[in-house]
Amino acid sequence: MSAAFPDEDACINHFRALRWPDADKTVCPHCGVIGKPYTLKNNTHKCLECLKKFTVRNGTIFEDSKIGLRKWFMAVLLMTSHKKGISSCQLAKDIGVTQKTAWFMLHRIRNAAMTQEFNAPLTGPVELDEAYVGPNPRFQHKNKRNPLVVGRAAANAKKIVFGMVERDGELRVHHVADTRKKMLAPIILANIERGAKVYSDEGAQYYWMRSEYMHRFVAHTLGQYVRGETSTNTIEGVFSHFKRTMLGTYHKASDQHLDRYLQMFAYRWNRRDMGEGERVNDLLRSTKGRKLSYKMLIS
Ligand SMILES: [Zn+2]
Repeated sequence: MSAAFPDEDACINHFRALRWPDADKTVCPHCGVIGKPYTLKNNTHKCLECLKKFTVRNGTIFEDSKIGLRKWFMAVLLMTSHKKGISSCQLAKDIGVTQKTAWFMLHRIRNAAMTQEFNAPLTGPVELDEAYVGPNPRFQHKNKRNPLVVGRAAANAKKIVFGMVERDGELRVHHVADTRKKMLAPIILANIERGAKVYSDEGAQYYWMRSEYMHRFVAHTLGQYVRGETSTNTIEGVFSHFKRTMLGTYHKASDQHLDRYLQMFAYRWNRRDMGEGERVNDLLRSTKGRKLSYKMLIS
């Protein structure tokens, strides 16, 4: 890890190369003018147009943080490489910050991952299913109960996760309030291309899909799990992986954090074939711009 990011300067140069691959086309985060800025001491630049100073951190999630880029990059590496994710306690220990700081860093990085635009519709074959996440997995674990019960019986007082996954492709997950057609249909229509092959269980909330998709189902209530190429084994595998992630690392997911964990999980899942360095760079690229666009909006 220290070999990849030997010192702060190396990290600044790396981030600069990611944000502005051509130094002559550096974008001023204050006025948006593209050009080659003056470079002053301490890796600070000065825009020739608006004459304001900036660093590579301006207009990114790192802008108002006192933590060095090297620690941020180590956090991104740890988050994107740990299969089960990383807790704020562990991150604090690994990079030498307080747990409070680590917690803040994790959430910022998760938000950057979440807002990435991976919104192209799934083309299929797509499997979809629901899972129920218990309000207190740790308590249930001690009692040897499955905290993630896949099935409708356990709906009460549990959080419902709706997942759609392409076989050998991408994953979309949503935290939903219920599993009625009214709730799920808009999500399905927004995430799966019309006409795609879609597999589910026999739930009545999926009947309407026949008019929009090549929809096939397996009758779980009859003990049927595979029928020709129809099954929901892939999405069930995804849910069981998610369950292990939650148990192994987070122990419990409060309501407000469940969606973030879900999106980070999907983010990692969708980049499972990338190399470690590729994943880090991919996330670093998604840290830019949002602060800038907010400033531009309110100005
Ligand atoms: Zn400028």
